[in-house]
Parts: sequence; C-alpha cells; structure tokens
Amino acid sequence: MSVIHLCQPDTSKSCAACCGIYNYADNTRKSLTQRLVFRSRLFQKVKDGEITLEQYRDVLRHKENSKRIFKTIYSCEFVGFLDQTRRKIGCMLHPIQNNGVDLREISFYGRDICEGHFCPSYEKLTEAEAKIVISVIPDWYLYGIVITDIDFVKSFFKIVQDALGESISADAIESNHRLTSILSKYFALKTSWPFRDTGKPRFGKYFFVGEEYDVDRIDYAALGVDLHKYDSIFLSLSSAFSTKDEVNRAGLILDDIIERFCSEYR
Ligand code: SF4
Ligand code: SF4
Repeated sequence: MSVIHLCQPDTSKSCAACCGIYNYADNTRKSLTQRLVFRSRLFQKVKDGEITLEQYRDVLRHKENSKRIFKTIYSCEFVGFLDQTRRKIGCMLHPIQNNGVDLREISFYGRDICEGHFCPSYEKLTEAEAKIVISVIPDWYLYGIVITDIDFVKSFFKIVQDALGESISADAIESNHRLTSILSKYFALKTSWPFRDTGKPRFGKYFFVGEEYDVDRIDYAALGVDLHKYDSIFLSLSSAFSTKDEVNRAGLILDDIIERFCSEYR
C-alpha cells in the first residue's frame, strides 16, 4: 500500500488518468497537450469572470473531439494544466485552484466521487515501487500511463528482484543515474514499443469493443513458441506479434534492459 500521493507527487508532474484523459481516441501527447492548454486558457476566463462555467462547457462541446475509446468511461472536460509551466495536470474545479471554493459538484461524477477516488495503484504498488516510478519519470504524460499500469511496474520489479535475490531499494536507484537511465528506457517503452497492437483500441492488456472490454491474450502456440517469460510485460505494452521472430526480438529488448539493470544494481 502506497502512502505517497500518487496523483500529485511532486512539482514536476501529476496524473489525471482516472479523469479520462487517455480515453480520448486521439490521446497522443501532442493532442492532449493542445487540448489541456486550450482548456486552461478558457478556464482562466471563468476565473476572471469573463465567461460562466456553462459557457466554458459550451465552447468545449463545440470545439473538442470527444470521441472516446471506451464509451463507458467518462472523460472529464475539467482536466487542465494547473501551473504556468504546464507540467502539472489535474482538476481545475478543485478548491486549491479556486481560492478555496470547491466547484466539483457541477462535474459528471460530482464532488464526493471525485474527492474520494483513489485508483488501485494506491493499494497495489509498494511504497518503493511508487517512489521509483515518481523519481524516474519526469513528465505527466508518461507518468500517468505508467503509475496506473500495476502489472507493468510490478512485473519488472519481480523479475529483477528474483534475479538479484533482494528487494530493490528506491534510495539506491535515486542515487545512481545509470540505474535511473536504464529504468527510464523501460518505462518509455510504453510510448515507443515497436510491437504495439494498432489493430484495436487498447489500454495496456485491455482491449475495447464498443461497450465491452476484455483482457488480451497472446497466442504463443500459433506462433510456435512457449508461453514467454515476459508475457505480462508484453501484454502491458499492448503487444501483437505476427511471427516467432517478432516475439524473440521483443524478448531481446527486455533482456537487454533487465540484464543491464541487474548488472548495474549488483
Ligand atoms: S489514476 Fe490514480 S494516481 Fe492517477 S489521478 Fe487517478 S487516483 Fe490519482
Ligand atoms: S471534476 Fe472530477 S473527474 Fe473532472 S477533473 Fe475534477 S476530479 Fe477529475
């Protein structure tokens, strides 16, 4: 159980995954950044008394492409950048953003749900795992993707801890830039993985068809290989393989990162 505030962990980044930002069909970094910058500027007009919250909503209804990957999950129109440097994202209706006035009552979920929601990462990630993700990832876009993918984080630490025969220390990683750099490469696979399934809407291991979702499976038998030791990581990376050679190449990418991490940690 993590006691660290995963949503707003430090001054360089934050997360708004459960407010639905990655659920937009167009959820690239560039597209989300443009969307959030526009909203932040528009919301400033609300704060300055130039427009009402209803007018804010109206403008976005007409301007934004609201197409979602999974229709059942709402994507809230009140996520924006919270600071001038555009590094932290989050709820623009939160009282901290509005001189102590809590405006979340007008949102889709309402104040109580917004205030009381803590995603499963709070429960499932250990304090060391959470601290390491926070210390290694500097930006909101990748941070939100990784901190919410429990399998992706835990699988890595299980593999390296089994290999090393000891628990990974967050302090050891924070004080060694080579370890930080190796882990950065691992986390960055979330946005650079060459075997990503582009054939259907995915969040990690989940895929979506209309109102339904399911956990994907890699059919290793059809590819002529055994269940892979990195299966859970492959699924978190939304992998789709068409040949045995692709599975082997994917495994080598992870072997390289994991072996370098273990060697440096030793
Ligand atoms: S997904 Fe989790 S860490 Fe991210 S904002 Fe929601 S509760 Fe916080
Ligand atoms: S109103 Fe609720 S769902 Fe919308 S941004 Fe704020 S916390 Fe997220």
